[in-house]
Amino acid sequence: MSIRIHPIKAFNDNYIWTLINENNKQAIVIDPGQAAPVIAYLEENELELTSIWTTHHHHDHIGGVAELQESYPMTHLVAHTEHNVDEDQTIKDGSTVSAWGCAAQVWEVPGHTASHVAYILDIEGRHYCFCGDTLFSAGCGRVFTGTIEQLHDSFKRLDSLSDETLLYPAHEYTASNLRFGLSIEPTNEAMEQALVQTENKTAQGLPSLPVTLEHERAVNVFLRAQEPNVIAGVKSKIDIADEKSLTVFAALRELKNNF
Ligand SMILES: [Zn+2]
Repeated sequence: MSIRIHPIKAFNDNYIWTLINENNKQAIVIDPGQAAPVIAYLEENELELTSIWTTHHHHDHIGGVAELQESYPMTHLVAHTEHNVDEDQTIKDGSTVSAWGCAAQVWEVPGHTASHVAYILDIEGRHYCFCGDTLFSAGCGRVFTGTIEQLHDSFKRLDSLSDETLLYPAHEYTASNLRFGLSIEPTNEAMEQALVQTENKTAQGLPSLPVTLEHERAVNVFLRAQEPNVIAGVKSKIDIADEKSLTVFAALRELKNNF
């Protein structure tokens, strides 16, 4: 099975991750916030859209769904019942979605929104995690209709995946997230290196994504809330009641909101 994964850029900094089956020229798009760039890419590459998966209901993730359904009437729409779309397959935690015989597990990872899901696709034993606005490289999503407790639990769950899991967040926020991370952990060399690499890539118009979970554990302060350096960095900026992972995580989210 040869599945290629390609980011279609949308809006200022969204990525519409696209799974492409080179054998039959079919494609699956995840979170098409806009239809036009998807249609342009599919036509240019002579691909047929067969499925759409959504991670959550925000407009920049579902805004292009209806138009794509009209343009490609055979498209199979996979979504949670609260994603505000007219889905063909309703998914929830534990559901399985198919990509040409490869299985993607659906995990509910609430926090950014209450009904946010991630798709964990298994291709020949390697995991490819489409995590929407839950986890960004070096950062995390804001809390809208979910809670900070849910977001913390969702991070723990994503952290249970294997080191080599590839993460595909839906936005290019990596550089600003790393600058925030370095304000908390100024001596973190992995973050410094990642910032240089990210700036080089973005200067060439290339995405900083995907990233491995192993890399994220080194550079994402929201996955490092139990690390002494992160706790010390947070305490240097804000008073916290205790050093529990959730308390530090919530303080980091608060600090990032005002960064
Ligand atoms: Zn969102």
